[in-house]
Amino acid sequence: MTSTDNLSKYFKDGIYFSCQLCGECCKGFNNGEVYLYHDDIVNLVKYINENMDRDETLTSFCNKYVKIIHTSFYWKKEGASRGRTYSFKTLGFKFEGDDEHCPFISDENLCTVHEGRPFQCRAYPIGWNMLIKSIRNFRKYSRECPGLQKALKNEGHYYSPEEVIDWAQKEYEIEKKFFLEMKENEFDIYKVYPYLPKDL
Ligand code: SF4
Ligand code: SF4
Repeated sequence: MTSTDNLSKYFKDGIYFSCQLCGECCKGFNNGEVYLYHDDIVNLVKYINENMDRDETLTSFCNKYVKIIHTSFYWKKEGASRGRTYSFKTLGFKFEGDDEHCPFISDENLCTVHEGRPFQCRAYPIGWNMLIKSIRNFRKYSRECPGLQKALKNEGHYYSPEEVIDWAQKEYEIEKKFFLEMKENEFDIYKVYPYLPKDL
């Protein structure tokens, strides 16, 4: 969970941020994975079928664009004295090419599914708990993100601390929901996503 007390110095008074559309965060494992949850996949399939004259199903979409990756989640049952960190599988974009780019980035570095893009893309940077709470992660990401470099000069759209918390809480709830579904299904990702191709 997130409160303003957890925010690093870069976010505790809010942050100025506007994406500079450089596409840097849509490429490469240096920037980590792009996580995908059920709602993201449904939205993307709907978007590309409606806007790109395609006929993807959830299964064909996953076959082309999705891979299994690993994640973890700290969970403490209500009333329990201690919790633990669980490691399990989740889904992310399958990157393409030598620069490991997202399959939906154009040659001009623009997102071709902008209106249907996943939560993680929409939420950056204010909805990323690992970024808003960590000075080290802010410094790491700001080396490659001109939008964060401008944030240091208070340039861009202003997001209040409350807005940051609101987005971060949404991210937490999405991760918690997925974790609980996985736990209920003995961490079998194929039970949680019955439409996943078996050899993914
Ligand atoms: S690296 Fe930063 S400025 Fe560039 S596209 Fe990503 S969010 Fe926008
Ligand atoms: S969906 Fe769009 S914003 Fe997200 S990584 Fe791909 S190209 Fe970038």
